Amino acid sequence: MPSSAAPATERGARARRNGQRDALAAGALDIAIVAASFGRLFYVRTPGRNAPDRVAVTRGKRTDLCVGDEVEIAPIGEDQAVIETLRPRRTLLQRSDRWRSKLLAANVDQIGVVIAGEPPFSEPLLLRVLIAAEAAGIAVALIVNKCDRSEATAAIRPRIDAYRALGYPVLEISAGPAPQETRAALHDWLSSRTTLLLGQSGMGKSTLVNTLVPDAELRTQAISQVLSSGKHTTTFSRLFDVPAEVADDARIIDTPGFQTFGLAHLSDSQRVHAMREFVPLLGQCRFYNCSHRDEPGCAIREAAQAGRIDELRYRLFTRLEADGD
Ligand code: ZN
Repeated sequence: MPSSAAPATERGARARRNGQRDALAAGALDIAIVAASFGRLFYVRTPGRNAPDRVAVTRGKRTDLCVGDEVEIAPIGEDQAVIETLRPRRTLLQRSDRWRSKLLAANVDQIGVVIAGEPPFSEPLLLRVLIAAEAAGIAVALIVNKCDRSEATAAIRPRIDAYRALGYPVLEISAGPAPQETRAALHDWLSSRTTLLLGQSGMGKSTLVNTLVPDAELRTQAISQVLSSGKHTTTFSRLFDVPAEVADDARIIDTPGFQTFGLAHLSDSQRVHAMREFVPLLGQCRFYNCSHRDEPGCAIREAAQAGRIDELRYRLFTRLEADGD
């Protein structure tokens, strides 16, 4: 079809895309990273420049961007911008219920799930986070916080060991009482990477973030004031550059603590494949379409009953599917 026959809107879109490319080539567009998102307003940061974050809106009012996204922006003045283009994502972590999907972070290299013995972490919730991370192809480690509370930590020790045995790295810290040791323990793991920190409420994740980025709270308040324009702001995800004295070339993304973590965006097959210990057993069940719950001859259930794989994780997995989300 000759281009002149294309509908006007399509021609317009193409001209706009060409215009964006020209503008980028001419240096009018900057590459930036979404550092905070708040409905239709975003904070974007231009890497490598000692410039303050800009408040940005998207062209066309699209809202399907999240923290960590790489975008091309047209700067406006000193402190504002329009987001013109979303660049392809390397990774994307999301959670979802039956009605909507929430994009948690893009382009992260790894995830740290913060857990603790007091209050005791929820293993069903941990399992869900790990399944989402595995399905998204993102490396994940467990950060066991509040290790100074030795009795509470001892109580969860068998479960920590179960995850270590599955190959998940475990980092043990006490962010509140031992900030210096915490920074030292996480230095190598954080360096040269963008890390997403996740945790259910009460695990001490905010304390950990403030240990790694000492002015995190101040920066958050500043963003909150600008983005909410006077309204009360609860919490939102933020990307922080970690200071050089804490880790080398590191960024962290902090997300609000959660009480639920839906997996509606994943298929049954994706969930099964996200259970590391199941994978070697797949194909050994009597029925090819085995759901690994009640079917006779299920190799995975038999392995769990015989103690060859972790029985609790298997049981939580079967309930997870029954939940339907
Ligand atoms: Zn089976």
